[in-house]
Amino acid sequence: MTSIATLGSHCALQVLKGAKDEGLKTLLVCEKRRESLYRRFNFIDEFILVDSFVDVLDQKISSVLEQNNSILIPHGTLIAQMNTEQIESIKTPVFGNKMILKWEADRKLKEQLMHEAKLDVPKSIASPSEINTLVIAKRHGAAGGKGYFLATSEQEYNKKRDKLIEQGIINSDSDLYIQEYASGVLAYLQYFYSPLNEKLEFFGVDKRHESDIEALARIPAEVQMNSDKVPSFNVIANSPLVLRESLLDEVYSMGERFVEASKKLVSPGMNGPFCIEGVYDENATFKTFEFSARIVAGTNLYIDGSPYSTLLYDEPMSMGRRIAREVKLASEGNQLDKITT
Ligand code: AMP
Repeated sequence: MTSIATLGSHCALQVLKGAKDEGLKTLLVCEKRRESLYRRFNFIDEFILVDSFVDVLDQKISSVLEQNNSILIPHGTLIAQMNTEQIESIKTPVFGNKMILKWEADRKLKEQLMHEAKLDVPKSIASPSEINTLVIAKRHGAAGGKGYFLATSEQEYNKKRDKLIEQGIINSDSDLYIQEYASGVLAYLQYFYSPLNEKLEFFGVDKRHESDIEALARIPAEVQMNSDKVPSFNVIANSPLVLRESLLDEVYSMGERFVEASKKLVSPGMNGPFCIEGVYDENATFKTFEFSARIVAGTNLYIDGSPYSTLLYDEPMSMGRRIAREVKLASEGNQLDKITT
């Protein structure tokens, strides 16, 4: 019998609750310091205690996962704590396409995939000397918005970059990627693509609350002007959104283009959960600044289903449960090779 395993962080509770609801055994690779949190939940069948998440690469841990016929569900913590080579060397079958995680972590590859999908992407700026509009400087990888900053000139960029270097958050310009700032309503579009039935499902949409950029709106302009604090975009929480129904057709179309583009560029393509991230501008046009090629934490909102999953399923369907459903169907049909890498 196949089981579901994940790292204890990010969306582990949702993923394992969903797996349990589908009748699958659940395993948590858990750092010892977080054990007491996860022991509170009775849907976790087995704990594999580790000192650090990279221990998932150890032979001892992979053989426990192998004995349990586990499929590992990758999430943001896996990307944040392991480099591409480490992720690609994981011996346990990984749900979805582990090769595409490199395209999420590498800004250049990321841009290439978004352009191939014909998404409307804010322009990237090759060098700080070319800054002549409002830009956002972002760190590589899944930094969660920490250490990002805004600038309107090279001088302002240099000042803020130097501050981050001083704080030990970055080492040099090469740790930053500069992109035009896109204004509008933030929306993080959550999808699931099934390689079994070759269908795309739109699962939900959320908005992120980022600290402490959001705090700026509470401070009068004259106080802001006298502060030299560099606000960051550190994700703290998510809240639900529903879109104007007239936007949904384009939401599906963007997701389908993304799936097609990923099949072309990184075989076997974007299987399983993913997220297209950006803003709706004043013309309700979506500008995509980012994607996540795996489950995002914003899906934690919808453990009981979202306004969109409810239209597709007559039962509460979280993203975690949808993953487990796919594993179950693939396992019953001897098609696990189609849904894992
Ligand atoms: P990311 O790591 O690209 O998801 O960015 C983290 C946060 O920075 C996002 O949730 C947005 O709030 C903000 N952000 C990133 N890129 C842009 C952009 N080009 N325009 C406006 N905001 C952005």
